[in-house]
Amino acid sequence: MSSLPTEAVSKGSKKEKAGSDPDRYLRQEDDTYKCRDCGAIILQKFMGVATVWDESSPCSGGGETEPIYAPFCPNCEEEPS
Ligand SMILES: [Zn+2]
Repeated sequence: MSSLPTEAVSKGSKKEKAGSDPDRYLRQEDDTYKCRDCGAIILQKFMGVATVWDESSPCSGGGETEPIYAPFCPNCEEEPS
């Protein structure tokens, strides 16, 4: 039992990654998102803040913080951590 076809495993013709498909979330008119698969409202998990440096700004030294949210479907995906 030493001749396992390991090649067949690594050579997948189609790669599907759950959660990495931007078309997975359908934008609604009220700025919320719905899951394309199950229709549930997409939740946003607050992940923290990122500092955004605007180098083109005439006022040097200006940095802005921007909240980061990770969208996820409560039905199809696990809550991001
Ligand atoms: Zn879903």
